[in-house]
Amino acid sequence: MIGNISLLSLMHRRSALIAAFVCCLILAGCQPGPNEPQPFDGARAYQLAAEQLSFGARHPGSSGHRQVGDWILEQLQAAGWEAFEQQFEHRGVSLRNIVGRAGPEEGGVIILGAHYDTRPVADADPENPTQPVPGANDGASGVAVLLELARVLSAQDLCSQVWLVFFDAEDSGNLDGWEWAVGSAYFVEVMEIVPKAVVVVDMVGDVDLQLKYELNSDPALSQEIWAVAAQLGQAAFIPEPGHAMFDDHSAFLRAGIPAIDIIDFDYPYWHTTQDTLDRISGDSLEQVGQTLEAWIQSCP
Ligand SMILES: [Zn+2]
Repeated sequence: MIGNISLLSLMHRRSALIAAFVCCLILAGCQPGPNEPQPFDGARAYQLAAEQLSFGARHPGSSGHRQVGDWILEQLQAAGWEAFEQQFEHRGVSLRNIVGRAGPEEGGVIILGAHYDTRPVADADPENPTQPVPGANDGASGVAVLLELARVLSAQDLCSQVWLVFFDAEDSGNLDGWEWAVGSAYFVEVMEIVPKAVVVVDMVGDVDLQLKYELNSDPALSQEIWAVAAQLGQAAFIPEPGHAMFDDHSAFLRAGIPAIDIIDFDYPYWHTTQDTLDRISGDSLEQVGQTLEAWIQSCP
């Protein structure tokens, strides 16, 4: 009898559990729970790009630059990442790289990077060469991918420690004697870790996105990521040689660290006032974001 009573109460408990589970599913709308893969959402990423443009011009020294930096820190913290900034000065201007960090240190460090500054002047624009660049693609697209990754990766078990690094002052090169990629050069100069891989995303929002191998990038790492994209059927990744770029990956390569630049440099609105939101798409951001998410999930 005791056995039967126990069985009965066990059955009740089981039905109660099933009922609770069904209620949960209904309430949660079948959302993945914590530690389950969350899909990278291109529409959210596009919104994150639009929010950056709402701050206006974002070149070093501008108020938009300070505001977008504070906003990135807030976004990282809201997504549950340990966030910090790395302040420094260059040619009398205060700059800062911003870092979000999550995952186990013993798995090694993977850096995903993007520059968050925009070019002070649209010097490739024949009509408005002294206006600032809005930077929807050149600046906002890479940051948007990283911040949407912050949201989706924070809910997952990471095998490595992931650093999302938002580099400052990439895009003031050849203006008033400034160099290109100042923030990433400083980052590498003071870096105390040895990342096992560095992936920079820059200009990844083009409506007509065509990502070919950047020729200075580490070939093995490029092939690894393009192979993940092929498995997912992401047509923007084209396994053919593209341009050779100097970008935020360059300082890492000089330090002997495997690094790549994911970039579509065939963008007619580059460094013009036409680099606006209507030239980028959520679908393009999603192809890049979902590829990087799947690559991180593969425990590289
Ligand atoms: Zn640029």
